[in-house]
Amino acid sequence: MIKIKKGVYRYDPTAVQKKELEDFTAAQKAEIMKRDGYRCVICGRGPKDGVELQVDHIRSKDDGGKAEIENGETLCAQHNFQKKNYKQTESGKRFFIRLYELAKAKNDNNLKDFCAEVLEVYEKNGVNGHIVWKK
Ligand SMILES: [Zn+2]
Repeated sequence: MIKIKKGVYRYDPTAVQKKELEDFTAAQKAEIMKRDGYRCVICGRGPKDGVELQVDHIRSKDDGGKAEIENGETLCAQHNFQKKNYKQTESGKRFFIRLYELAKAKNDNNLKDFCAEVLEVYEKNGVNGHIVWKK
């Protein structure tokens, strides 16, 4: 199904096909896991910790993300699940990172501290850890 506008969907078999083409192949998954050292890029756990690893699209397929090694990351089942569930909070984190950078550039310490506090709440709860905030 393709979203035409809010609440209006159309079935488009070619789009479904195209999306399937953007799934990683077994060889790509193996290469991505090898690059990431067989560890979750967020928590660093892996099979030796009894954790199952999954390869996930950094930029999602729905968002036009391609099945390329550079667009893949290794996540543990828990963080992959969390990433999907917390998708709605991603633009918020990106927004506060931009605002933080802006405040830093303008030497607005009040705004900078405010943004830092919000971003620390993200970090404290381990939300959207794949979006990196450079302090
Ligand atoms: Zn993890």
